[in-house]
Amino acid sequence: MQKLHIYNSLSGKKEEFIPLVPGKIGMYVCGPTLYSEPHMGNMRTFINFDFIYRCLLHLGYDVKYVRNITDAGHITNSAGQEVDSIGKVAKAEQLQSLEIVYKYNVKFQTLQQLYNLLPPSIEPTATSHIQEQIEAIEKILSNGYAYVTNGSVYFDVRAYMNDYPYGTLSGRKVDELEAETRTLQSQGEKRFFADFALWKKAHAEDMQIWRSPWGDGNPGWHIECTAMSTKYLGKSFDIHGGGMDLKFPHHEDEIAQNCGAFGCNPARFWLHANMLNVNGQKMSKSLGNFFLPKEIIEGSSPLFDKPYSPSVVRFFMLQSHYRSTLDFTKEAINASEKGFERLMEGMSLMEKIEPSQSSSFLVSDIIKATSDAICDDFNAPILIATLFDVVKHVHLLCDGKEQLTQEDLNLLKSIFTNMVHGVLGIEPVKKEENKRLEGVMEVIVALRQQAREQKNWNMSDMIREGLEKAGIQIKDNKEGTSWT
Ligand code: AMP
Ligand code: ZN
Repeated sequence: MQKLHIYNSLSGKKEEFIPLVPGKIGMYVCGPTLYSEPHMGNMRTFINFDFIYRCLLHLGYDVKYVRNITDAGHITNSAGQEVDSIGKVAKAEQLQSLEIVYKYNVKFQTLQQLYNLLPPSIEPTATSHIQEQIEAIEKILSNGYAYVTNGSVYFDVRAYMNDYPYGTLSGRKVDELEAETRTLQSQGEKRFFADFALWKKAHAEDMQIWRSPWGDGNPGWHIECTAMSTKYLGKSFDIHGGGMDLKFPHHEDEIAQNCGAFGCNPARFWLHANMLNVNGQKMSKSLGNFFLPKEIIEGSSPLFDKPYSPSVVRFFMLQSHYRSTLDFTKEAINASEKGFERLMEGMSLMEKIEPSQSSSFLVSDIIKATSDAICDDFNAPILIATLFDVVKHVHLLCDGKEQLTQEDLNLLKSIFTNMVHGVLGIEPVKKEENKRLEGVMEVIVALRQQAREQKNWNMSDMIREGLEKAGIQIKDNKEGTSWT
């Protein structure tokens, strides 16, 4: 097996990856908090880790991929403020917390299918692992790295720092942090500003409350990942991933909790996927600069003039390396769409190539280039560039300017389709299905046109609204009626 090198955020270097158990990999990735529909930025991170998962499977590893669902209201968000994000939305919509989570989980699962994400091996939820979270907190307490105050439990960063360094992943220094920290509501309960909640005493207005040895309350945000990752992958496993914005405090505190409970950093390799930006700024719910993955498919985002197929969006995302930021612009996705079509054309032209008696180039060089790209920190853009080289060969083969034997041709086809479908997870836009839909739409548009000519506005509106519900938009312009 070729040596795999992965950039480890912990060391800040690319390192040779050797799994703890030969041939097997345990990988944990922080999943979504389901209080709203995941935006395109969230999807970028999940697509990146899906690509990494596919690469590991392609390399022949037996991977256990665990990606959690946060369905317990965070009592602290990434800015350290105390908010129950799920409860807040639930109250606004007059629903129960789990109704909110379920509603958005259904949407998330649909998006996963649309964007061709392989299902993880397990998708555990925080609310079904409260017992495990309580047990992890008890271990940290009994090891002397936490304290109980007024029904809440806090991680004791100073006690921890006597035995372990804090800030090894993010490089944050506690004294520098102090200057940045704003005065928080419950600062008074903590012994030290950097201490963080493992368990928080329930407030009367909390939507979800659980029993614990310290009284009724809610688990902290970070402890859910410690409880679920170690339950399914063990105290120490191979890979832990998430978006770059989770490095601090979430992942830093996960390391502290794991060391505090079990005496070791949970993961040997920490992987961080970089952000999707809009005009140079991180796409985020709070900034309001986000669009939804379904809006780009439907063409309903005002930022874009037309819809794009999920395969094109996925291809566009993978044209950037997972550790680079990516700006989602109209120009960039249009360029990707052209590239995607070139790749798909190459794939269908491949079927038309006639074999020759001899080969004029080495397919093994192409196979090596694809493996090199994958094994160099999952370099999707280099992999795609190699596939474009294959497309060039395909054109030359079709024009008779290059030759391949039947055996080499089969090899080329197999590596190409395996990389496009299996590793990049790109499927061709289903032409047959589109053709059928085009036929049906022709009839519907004609019926609506007839209704308009007869001034039957009810009928014409009914058709338009019905189609909208099915995700099809009708536009009337000078040239006639078009649909997307
Ligand atoms: P959340 O639902 O906010 O917990 O986020 C789910 C995942 O999406 C986390 O791994 C985040 O790091 C990631 N994420 C959030 N915003 C972005 C963004 N703009 N680009 C890429 N990933 C993001
Ligand atoms: Zn997490």
